[in-house]
Amino acid sequence: MTFKELKLHEDVLQGLDAMGFEKPTPIQEESIPVILDDKDIIAVAQTGTGKTAAFLLPVLHKISEQKIQEGQINTLVISPTRELAVQIDQQLEGLGYFTIATSMPVYGGGDGDGFAREKRALQDGAHIIVGTPGKLISHLNLGYAKIDNLKHLILDEADRMLDMGFYDDIMKIINQLPKDRQTIMFSATMPPKIRKLAKDILTDPQEVSIAISKPAEKVVQAAFLAYDGQKIELVKYLLRDNDVPSLIIFASTKIKVKQLTRELQSQGLNANMISSDLEQAERLTILNEFKSKKLQILVATDVISRGIDIDNIDMVINFDVPNDPEDYIHRIGRTARASSEGEAVTFINNDDQYKFGRIEELIEKEIRKVKLPSELGEGPEYNPKRRGGSGGGRRPYNRKKGGGGNRRR
Ligand code: AMP
Repeated sequence: MTFKELKLHEDVLQGLDAMGFEKPTPIQEESIPVILDDKDIIAVAQTGTGKTAAFLLPVLHKISEQKIQEGQINTLVISPTRELAVQIDQQLEGLGYFTIATSMPVYGGGDGDGFAREKRALQDGAHIIVGTPGKLISHLNLGYAKIDNLKHLILDEADRMLDMGFYDDIMKIINQLPKDRQTIMFSATMPPKIRKLAKDILTDPQEVSIAISKPAEKVVQAAFLAYDGQKIELVKYLLRDNDVPSLIIFASTKIKVKQLTRELQSQGLNANMISSDLEQAERLTILNEFKSKKLQILVATDVISRGIDIDNIDMVINFDVPNDPEDYIHRIGRTARASSEGEAVTFINNDDQYKFGRIEELIEKEIRKVKLPSELGEGPEYNPKRRGGSGGGRRPYNRKKGGGGNRRR
């Protein structure tokens, strides 16, 4: 199938051409006709499948086709995080470049000027507003947003928004919107709470689902059993023997991200971190440096594992096993986007073995366990039935010492 066969407006086709998108991805093929047909939709698709364009393209088409003038907000996109909102807005800029559509991100942070700019866009009725729940509510409560004629409400990463506790905020926003609208919901997973939300806010929705909870095929997955003290050396080993211009390392907590970044930097590696503690401007600077390959190693928590669009990442390292098996899929989805191949490597200490077993159950696949290089000494035995909590992350006292035992603090 081609984008032309989806009958998208000429101005939208031009944007696709400029972005270098040659043919629709499966989620685009399935969702675009439903959205063009003005039906409500719940689409289950993980990041990396082309889901953003799947909801942006039909909306851009309708704005172009109907020659909708500015003055009333036509489409509201709600996103769980600022990063995702920025990224949706960037795709919008590319795909909508040749259309009449105007857009504005409304995602909090920033200064008074930023707020005034957002206010103006909401007041003047930019076609498409992309925002985070809290910031949207602050504006909507002040009453100037031109939402009376809103035609499309899009919830992106709906599961993430509920995980982040945004249910009440989403409902507060929805209660202010006209009832006669199309509601489009994208979610990476479909737990019961998402089914309930869909039932509450969608009318007779079509359901579209692409490969739920399966990592992208082109990600080569492997795992090392390693004690915590061996992990930094293992990172260095992987970087030494492979050509890895772009690497994301995920760690579960902000504190670990900080420690790890400091350690990598002290070892002379080109690493920096992104965490919710940083100012928005700092986060964007670091993300841009990473995207432009000035920064080789980005260390992050799961804040950026969902949704953030960074192309051509060669490797993702899970420095520890994520608590939520779904997060594993999101983390490794950062590599092997659209057309490239990627590697995802997970470090499993004793405490994390049970959690890793749950991930293998979820993806219905046993992930290859690679033996530690001999210079690092022995790692733990793999036993996924072992539950964590016994201090098993530490290496047994009497084990043979390898290069990794002397992690600096
Ligand atoms: P997403 O799932 O929306 O995060 O998109 C994943 C990546 O695929 C982004 O880098 C998009 O720019 C890219 N992409 C989306 N649709 C297409 C397409 N039809 N052809 C090629 N790349 C695409």
